[in-house]
Amino acid sequence: MLAYSPSTASSTASAAAGPAIPLAPVLSAASFRRAAEVHASPARTVLDAGAYRLVTSGRVAIALALRELGVQAGDTVLVPAYHSPSMIPPVLWRGATPVFYRVTADAGVDLEDLAARIGPDTRAVMVTHYFGFPQDLAPIRALCDARGIALVEDCAHAFIGEHGGRPLGSWGDYAIASSMKFLPIYEGGALVSNRHDLKNVTLRSAGAGFEAKVALNSVEKGFAYGRLPTLRAALWLPLRAKSALWGLLKRGRKVPAPALAPASSDSSFDFDPRWLDKRSSLFSRTLLKASSPARIQALRRRNYQRLDEALRGLPGLRALHPQLPDGACPWVYPLLVDEPEALFQRLKARGVPLTRFAYPLWQGVDDTTCPNAGMLSRRVLALPCHQELREDELDWIIAAVRKEASA
Ligand SMILES: *Cc1c(COP(=O)(O)O)cnc(C)c1O
Repeated sequence: MLAYSPSTASSTASAAAGPAIPLAPVLSAASFRRAAEVHASPARTVLDAGAYRLVTSGRVAIALALRELGVQAGDTVLVPAYHSPSMIPPVLWRGATPVFYRVTADAGVDLEDLAARIGPDTRAVMVTHYFGFPQDLAPIRALCDARGIALVEDCAHAFIGEHGGRPLGSWGDYAIASSMKFLPIYEGGALVSNRHDLKNVTLRSAGAGFEAKVALNSVEKGFAYGRLPTLRAALWLPLRAKSALWGLLKRGRKVPAPALAPASSDSSFDFDPRWLDKRSSLFSRTLLKASSPARIQALRRRNYQRLDEALRGLPGLRALHPQLPDGACPWVYPLLVDEPEALFQRLKARGVPLTRFAYPLWQGVDDTTCPNAGMLSRRVLALPCHQELREDELDWIIAAVRKEASA
């Protein structure tokens, strides 16, 4: 019942025509660069918003937030009609019913519609900072307080960033994040709260096989995209992950894959409750500590601006947002496209890395639920702007989009 299979939620670079450009950050020497080396000014992450637990995915964090809130059978949870399908199974796992509220044409919360859908059984509302652009949460927080419902702040696209002088993640009763969308790690999510101490949320290791698989996967990707010099990579592996890995290799057999890592790490929308009490890997936690949010934010903003300047005037497309707000750290560069299907196919055939967020929507959610969600689901194509993109790769992406948009 929790299973939901995506068709083509996102495409990885197929390398059919152009160079293989990573859709998401991959491990490189720079992944470990500390803040002081690059930027003096700090950047804030959701982990600065309150107490936190590092889990293996954002959806596990959603499930934990709903569990901590006591959401149960008979309750309803308000979910944006524009959503990642991975947000729904945790609601169903609680036995609760998702009720979809509308969004505006620029992916803001339709506050009037949200308020109208609050009923006697409503326990919580989820609000998403799409693509890293902060929602205006002050009025939503006020509405939740007035109506006695909880706010779950979905920072899956906003691991880094602040708004109104506060780190994102500090408005919600709970906030959730997906660190694997921002860092070169195979798994990673966070449950955050600045209102609760999270002492009921206890986690344990998912085992040596998991630790090894996570470390290996990041290193493998680093190699595959030519980011890692061979010998040094071995030194970068955290010691414990390395000994787990060697142990596994020595035993000379493969542990069945499904036990080793959650489906959330393989672009699936499934939710598996067996991962609820599992801690994020040592590799992910080490990388999180070693990486610089300031560097990531500065580079993502620079890459975003670069794409924006080069692409915003092209026929048949425009930037979803006219401006990148101060303090925001974009997940991707979302384009609103007039003929998305044709352009998507052409770009994909060329090997341009592209994300189609919220495509498809959860079964049964369509234009009658929310015309804007349907429109955004179909028309937004997003390009990567992550910190590990190289100049030549950005140039190539820009050239390819310019060419195909004018074709
Ligand atoms: C990806 C995503 C999630 C879930 O995060 P995972 O780490 O993939 O489980 C939640 N909300 C939104 C908006 C997302 O895009």
